Amino acid sequence: MSGGGFALIPILLGFGLAAGMVGRWKGGSFWLWFFVGFFAPFVGLAAAALHRPEREELRRQCPGCGRVVKLHDALCTRCGTELEFPDVALAAEAPIRVA
Ligand SMILES: [Zn+2]
Repeated sequence: MSGGGFALIPILLGFGLAAGMVGRWKGGSFWLWFFVGFFAPFVGLAAAALHRPEREELRRQCPGCGRVVKLHDALCTRCGTELEFPDVALAAEAPIRVA
């Protein structure tokens, strides 16, 4: 009844976080890789590190300098423009017809 097994939890959480961050950095899901790393510490982290996203990463163009950056980048890597998620821009200038 010493409860020594609980000492493993922070270690597993550490592996989960590491795998989650690596997985997310590679374009995957943080939580998916978090659980993989948590339940299979060494194998999961290695799998996240070796994982390659199947589909090509989404990209978009920086409105400031025209550089093509990754979709989930928050800042342009060239000019430092803060990049918002591009789902608001399209509808704004829809023509309004007055009959
Ligand atoms: Zn830019």
